[in-house]
Amino acid sequence: TKIVAIVGRPNVGKSALFNRLAGKNIAIVHDRPGVTRDRLIASCRKAEPPFDIMDTGGIGETIEDDFNLQVKAEATLALDVADVILFVVDGFQGVTPVDLELAKTLRQSTKPLILVVNKMDSEKRKQHGSEFSKLGFKEIHETSAAHGHGITELIATVGKHLNSVPAKATRPPRTATAPPLKLAIIGRPNAGKSSLVNALIGDQRTIVSDIAGTTRDSIDIPYEHDGKAYTLIDTAGLRRKAKIHDAVETFSAQQATRSIKRADLCVLLVDASGMTMQDRKVAQIVVELQKPCIIVLNKFDLYHPGAKLKDRKEELLETARREFFFMPHAPMIPISAKEGQYLDKIFNAVERVHHGAQNPPGTGALNRILHKVIDTSPAALGRTGKSFNLLYASFIKEDNPAPIPVPHIVLFANRVDKLQDSFLRHLESVLRKTWPAEGIPMRWSIRGKG
Ligand code: GDP
Repeated sequence: TKIVAIVGRPNVGKSALFNRLAGKNIAIVHDRPGVTRDRLIASCRKAEPPFDIMDTGGIGETIEDDFNLQVKAEATLALDVADVILFVVDGFQGVTPVDLELAKTLRQSTKPLILVVNKMDSEKRKQHGSEFSKLGFKEIHETSAAHGHGITELIATVGKHLNSVPAKATRPPRTATAPPLKLAIIGRPNAGKSSLVNALIGDQRTIVSDIAGTTRDSIDIPYEHDGKAYTLIDTAGLRRKAKIHDAVETFSAQQATRSIKRADLCVLLVDASGMTMQDRKVAQIVVELQKPCIIVLNKFDLYHPGAKLKDRKEELLETARREFFFMPHAPMIPISAKEGQYLDKIFNAVERVHHGAQNPPGTGALNRILHKVIDTSPAALGRTGKSFNLLYASFIKEDNPAPIPVPHIVLFANRVDKLQDSFLRHLESVLRKTWPAEGIPMRWSIRGKG
């Protein structure tokens, strides 16, 4: 759902406008005692397409004494999360210094901004109209939220903008024209990278010899699976191409880093029959670079070959989970490159990760999760739960999201210094129960005073 944010100094009629836009469908997201505002977000179903309307006023009110900071927090929130921003001013009072300051902040954005001159209840008030043009907005709209004037027109204008901004929160599925996902096949020497690529490309091998290396340390191989196109970033390729198959590969962190950086998703190959420090080292690079990842447990054929399949698998997964405890979100796929076994499962996992990343929960759901966590585990918030309030959570929208976007969630609070790491971890694990964001890391940041 797209988000339309209402920004403006106090008393210009933001709440009234919010209620007008939301109609009867106000979803109470924030109903904890101690917070002045009880409504921050609601859906406007009168619009086509329907959108979420957000009143940023709730943020600033709890940042007690610092008025400038309050104004800034609201504007920043709007700029971060909204698709369209409604900047509300008071048509009766005229332009104030705070309006000018807000306008300055908002104008830095490339997002559609609509100046809403509210409280235009009578003809004689329209004399202020020209005064507001000095705020520098192309689009000026007059309303009376109290009397319900100009609301239908405002909704239509918003709708027009929403239809012209590309969807960001709900990204369209990959189409035939979308570039293939880039999968980096990485792992320590001897993990089986070369064998895996060989097993995959099989009869497509002839193509490979014609492909120029994109960098000195990897080769990009076009690969099709199940009708979908991928690009394999093959870090073992040069060695194979040079037919020094038996040469000992030395591990280079820089080389791995370059391939990981170029990838949309990392296929981390490990030798299931002996996981080592070096496997974790490669994994750490993936974590540091915040890349989506799946862990492929190769040489499954060598792992307790006599035992029952189910037991072998369970034991291996348990061992690998322990070994890669710092990547709990990564799917783990046992395969045998040598036997060509279970290779399909790699691509099933890649598609699950891709699909999950493209279907994040909406802002409303995200905030319900946030407040459920706060209500059920207040102690985790910090030592002084009373003066610390987490108000609102939102995804930060990127202009050019990666094909497998890594979510960046910002939490708005009245201060930043009290939030504990354990709380974030807990929040993330609860969120992941609702949103199976397999294989993708999450970025968290906190905004507020302090
Ligand atoms: P790379 O250094 O990561 O490219 O690893 P290679 O593909 O060269 O494989 C290293 C060694 O492991 C070779 O001797 C392979 O034959 C062997 N190997 C690779 N995959 C498997 C597998 O699934 N099962 C078994 N048993 N051996 C494998």
